[in-house]
Amino acid sequence: MCGKVVVTGGAGFIGSHLVDRLVEEGVEEIVVIDNFSSGSLKNLERHRGKKYLRIINEDLKNWGSSWINEFDGAEIVFHYAANPEVRVAATNPRIHFEENLKATFNVLEAARLMDVKYHVFASSSTVYGDAKTIPTPEDYQPLEPISVYGSVKLGAEYLYITYSLLYGFRSLILRYANIVGPRSNHGVIIDFIRKLRRNPRELEILGDGSQKKSYLYISDTVDATLHLFKVFKKTSEPYQIYNVGNEDWVSVIEIADIVVKEMGLKNVKYIFKPMTPDGRGWPGDVKLMLLDITKLKKTGWKPRYSSREAVAETARAIIKQGIMEA
Ligand code: NAD
Repeated sequence: MCGKVVVTGGAGFIGSHLVDRLVEEGVEEIVVIDNFSSGSLKNLERHRGKKYLRIINEDLKNWGSSWINEFDGAEIVFHYAANPEVRVAATNPRIHFEENLKATFNVLEAARLMDVKYHVFASSSTVYGDAKTIPTPEDYQPLEPISVYGSVKLGAEYLYITYSLLYGFRSLILRYANIVGPRSNHGVIIDFIRKLRRNPRELEILGDGSQKKSYLYISDTVDATLHLFKVFKKTSEPYQIYNVGNEDWVSVIEIADIVVKEMGLKNVKYIFKPMTPDGRGWPGDVKLMLLDITKLKKTGWKPRYSSREAVAETARAIIKQGIMEA
């Protein structure tokens, strides 16, 4: 693919799968910058000691720290470091400002000073808020995020746009649906597995269970990401925005059914816990999310796994992994 690539958040779920794929693509030098707040060295274990990978344990919020020099000579920065837990903002919105906006600004500044041209930014479907058009296309207006996570992702998108128009960056902004797969460390599937391990007779479901969202499997996600980067590189646009998701969606109740089945359980009683009067799982939870991926498909790519298959594959992988005690 190319010489030197920086992956922020490369020890996390999506970032580490991206690193795996970059190695397969023959990238000669990969620098992971991660503060291990949610990431893990285990995710990069297979590359340990390899010459092509350097892991820098630093916090991107710290401006003036030595991680900035790591951008020197890089051709691409994949910016995947963030706090991706949307519901954190219900109690502490500052976390999202610090981790997802301030850190992004620092990444952009480091890239500007070190003259890095290409950028891939992990944005999110949450920028659309409660969209009235479903499936939601990239040019949907007005963008009214209902979580602080969504609003800082949108703010970060605009930083990328402005740096592209002002400083000659070339930025690919990807609005991901819910991404699932092995190594994921948060979200509804893990939440259900944890709860059912504690009590296989009952499952507490946040919200009224009717929330319906689109899920993309991690191998499809990384595939689409690198495919779109190659497509983008051939154009001369300063920036492009793509939805990256699936064509179908599944409800939270269907996810519960899939997890229960994959765990080999029967007669589990569902207990619904709506956290808002309209049945959301938490304040800021978007109840219906399905991205219009026409633009992505026009580039010649489509997902291999449906949402339902992605959820089932993930449940199987996590159950097999025997992961995380609650
Ligand atoms: P993750 O938590 O597994 O990975 C994030 C990584 O960033 C972790 O390794 C963490 O240690 C690191 N990190 C966090 N703050 C940091 C900081 N200040 N300095 C250095 N490193 C830091 O999350 P993920 O699910 O892999 O998400 C990756 C990216 O994709 C995030 O930007 C997230 O917002 C975005 N995204 C994820 C999803 C999803 O469903 N997983 C959906 C849409 C967008």
